[in-house]
Amino acid sequence: MTLIYYLCDYFNIFNALTKPDFDIRLMSTIAHEKYEAVIGLEVHAQLLTKSKAFASVAAQYGEAPNTQVTPLCLGHPGTLPVVNENLVRYIIKMGLATNCSVAPVSIFARKNYFYPDLPKGYQISQFDTPICFDGFIDIELEDYNKRIGLTRIHMEEDAGKSIHDQDPYNTLVDLNRAGTPLIEIVSEPDIRTPQEAYAYLTKIKQIVQYLEICDGNMEEGSLRCDANVSVRPRGREKFGTRTELKNMNSFRNVERAIEFEIFRQIELIEEGGEVVQQTRLWDTSKNQTRVMRSKEEAHDYRYFPEPDLPPIIVTDELLSKIREELPELADVRQKRFVEEYKMSEVDAITLTEDRYLADYFEEVTGYAGNAKSASNIVLSEVLRILNEKSIDISEFSVSAKRLAELVQLKDDDKINSSAMQEVFNTMLNNEKSAEELAKEMNLIQVSDSGFIESIVDEIIKNNPDEVQRYKEGKKQLMGFFVGQAMKASKGQANPKLVTEMVRKKLEG
Ligand code: ADP
Ligand code: MG
Repeated sequence: MTLIYYLCDYFNIFNALTKPDFDIRLMSTIAHEKYEAVIGLEVHAQLLTKSKAFASVAAQYGEAPNTQVTPLCLGHPGTLPVVNENLVRYIIKMGLATNCSVAPVSIFARKNYFYPDLPKGYQISQFDTPICFDGFIDIELEDYNKRIGLTRIHMEEDAGKSIHDQDPYNTLVDLNRAGTPLIEIVSEPDIRTPQEAYAYLTKIKQIVQYLEICDGNMEEGSLRCDANVSVRPRGREKFGTRTELKNMNSFRNVERAIEFEIFRQIELIEEGGEVVQQTRLWDTSKNQTRVMRSKEEAHDYRYFPEPDLPPIIVTDELLSKIREELPELADVRQKRFVEEYKMSEVDAITLTEDRYLADYFEEVTGYAGNAKSASNIVLSEVLRILNEKSIDISEFSVSAKRLAELVQLKDDDKINSSAMQEVFNTMLNNEKSAEELAKEMNLIQVSDSGFIESIVDEIIKNNPDEVQRYKEGKKQLMGFFVGQAMKASKGQANPKLVTEMVRKKLEG
């Protein structure tokens, strides 16, 4: 038994190492036999407030450099910060949606460090009194569900941006981002696999999108994730030394970076080395992590209470008001879809994964009056296009109303399913209504009973053998008759009516 185990192990490793494109998934699976990874994530979400965290200037992206800047953002003496009310409301929403306790009193703190894109010389953040703490997020994986603890969620402001690749001799600084509001969500070290980390991030994205407090786009940097990773021999309680991974700009990259890092640490330990606490950068082109700096300690930042801002007081009234404003979140919506629209749990999960996809589906259902047909077309055709084009439902070209018209054509038996698909494909690049297109494309089914009767009579006349056998009990021949009718009518006869007509004629 042991021998077989070792042989398998040997060949797995052999395969993994000789593969041209490295397959860390395989390698880490093997290594997982002996070791267990411990992972904690720090996620920054950029809030969708109109103005900055402490200054009354717009916080939108994409403007010309250094145009969204006030003396406060530049760190001029004599300027004073004022808290953006929505920063507080949004973070409380997030806290409530993730089962956190909300501190009745919390304060801001200065995190001091020098950087050219930080004119003040400190970031306003929260240190030992985060406004939200002790929460959890439930994640679903293929074969199990798991609860991931949240240590804290706190408020902070972003720094500006240093641009190193536009001028060959200088670094440019854009301060538009300086002072935009962020929340940092810190997980407990409860995550054990890269897949769990991926599921956790997906859930965070879903929650912030449902709450409409952040657009959740990791590629564009509105969600950012640092991953703390350590490994320990299975069964040991004490955590190993962790490294912190940065610079992953997609969910997949977070998963890959953690996978790589777990393997790197296990290899290092197996070779007799020791993991050093450090910050490492994920290099997308090389698919590996590399050292950025050795770990800084909290005391290096000389945190101290921000003297220019009063404590944040959260009254019970404010709390219950915000609680009332919370939208229906994905988990609840999913259960409602199963009950209200009688759909499978899998379909409900897919439809509610993205808030706006769920909204779209409900809109189509509202217009078409048939949830079953609406969910069918959204789950198959619409999702297929979104995947093919890598776009969100907000960028999808067919409005819910136009799609509902297509659904109704099919439900009213005016077109068949293959025609529905053809019309759908044409609608993607066309403003015409489903009915207009179906007519133009000659796809409208004929339901005129006189027309259908004449076709069926003709078929009965021309196929006496089949008619005889049908009458003797060979009912499978119905398919043959319908096929003939479709052929005779060039696909336009309504097959349901043909079936009824054949039955009427042959069974009396
Ligand atoms: P720091 O400011 O040093 O990064 P934080 O408290 O902000 O510390 O974040 C620490 C993160 O690292 C948390 O998500 C925590 O769960 C995680 N963490 C702590 N110890 C370990 C460990 N040994 N292995 C993996 N993750 C860890
Ligand atoms: Mg950290």
